[in-house]
This record gives sequence, structure tokens and C-alpha cells, in this order.
Amino acid sequence: MDFEINTKGKNLFLVLSTITLLLMMIITTLLWWFISPRLHEINDILANLSLNALRIFYFILVLETILVYLTSYTEKNFLIIRFFIRVFIRILYPVTLFLGRIFGFSKERIRESFVHVNNSFIKSLKKKFKSSELLILLPHCLQNTECEIRITVDINKCKKCGKCNIGDLAEIADKYNVPIAIATGGTLARKIIIENKPKFIIAVACDRDLVEGMHEVFPIPVYGVLNERPQGPCVNTKVNIVNIESALNKILV
Ligand code: SF4
Repeated sequence: MDFEINTKGKNLFLVLSTITLLLMMIITTLLWWFISPRLHEINDILANLSLNALRIFYFILVLETILVYLTSYTEKNFLIIRFFIRVFIRILYPVTLFLGRIFGFSKERIRESFVHVNNSFIKSLKKKFKSSELLILLPHCLQNTECEIRITVDINKCKKCGKCNIGDLAEIADKYNVPIAIATGGTLARKIIIENKPKFIIAVACDRDLVEGMHEVFPIPVYGVLNERPQGPCVNTKVNIVNIESALNKILV
């Protein structure tokens, strides 16, 4: 899939996660080295087992990091990558976020970079989907604050007045016959996903909601589109419609 959405911002997260991995390896190896005499005193087998467990754990993480780099930069699909992405997300993401903060990077920047890494994984998928298998999931903050129509219940109630992107998105969903929904929060988003059972999600949200959502719905692939926030977070946000339509053109059968 050749999306036009920017994935260039992935470097920050990739570099930080590699440094995180190296530091984890150094710290745990030193820890093991310090406690190993005591472990040997207790039981030699226990000492050897713990060392081998550590070696296997880091072998998997190093292999996973190499595959993540390969997938991210070549945007080619490696069959084994889905398992490794799960490991990558579960183990390295929270530690990378923590370490990045110590290095002075904002959570927002790190999360945005993670979204770009995730999107390069998605781009590496060569699969296409039927329109009924897709879901476009939008945040409520895209709706103009002066609009009184309750589009969260039914987006088709939108009058397409042009004051916000909801009208354009509803039109695109209509044109491609793709399910579209607006979620006011994580609980509603989960409910929408359970009801629609999508095989691929195009999600528009801020960095925090996107990353949390991607973690929650894994292994459903989520193409994350960061919203623009010209008036600050959660108010009258915007999204690049052309990018969403271009993604749809590449994903749909
Ligand atoms: S485009 Fe739709 S949701 Fe947005 S302000 Fe107009 S009627 Fe309301």
C-alpha cells in the first residue's frame, strides 16, 4: 500500500527504542552479574537457567528490533513481524516513553513518532480489504463546537454545512460505502469496534488516543491519522481529507 500520509517522523521512536533496548540489556546484565554469586550459592541450575532466560529474552528483543527496522524502512511485509510487533509494543513502548521523557522529549512527540512507526508497519501489509471490512473512526472534537446536531448517534444527520471536516468525511464514507463512526471516548470506541467487527481501521485522533487505541485493538491493523489542532487540543480539530481518501483508495479491493 502506498499511502501519502507522512511516515517520516518514525526515526525518533526507532532510535529511542534502540537506546532503551541497549540500556535494558546493560542494566539487567550488570544486575545478573552482581547477584550471580548468590544464585550459584543457592543452586547452579537456577543461576544458569536465569542467565539463559535473559539471553533468550534479549535475543527475541534484538531480533524484533532488527525486524521492526527492516519493516519500517523497506515497508515490506515480513511474515513473522506481527508477533514481534506485539512484543515491541508490550515491552519496549512503555520503557521508551519513560526514557524519552528523561532525555527531554515530550510524550506527544514520542507518541506521534510511534504512530508513524505503526503506519509504516501498516504500509507494509500487502492486503486489501472490502469496504464492509473497514471502519473509519473519528473523534468528537472534529465537530464544530457551535454545531448542535447529535452526529455521535448518526453521522448521516450532518448537514454538510462546511464548518468542519465531518461533512467531507461523511461524504467520503458514502462514496466508498465504508462504515464510519464518531466516538466520544474509549468506551464508545470499543463498543463501535465490537459492533462493526472491522478488519482494518482508519482512526483519526490525537497522539494519545491513537496510541492507546492501537494498543487496545491489536491485532486489528489501525492506520493512524493525527488530527490537526489549530485551536488547541479537543476543540474544533481538523484532518487532512485528501490523505484519508488516498488511504482508502489503496486499501480497498
Ligand atoms: S459539517 Fe456537519 S457536523 Fe460539521 S458543523 Fe456542519 S452540520 Fe455540524
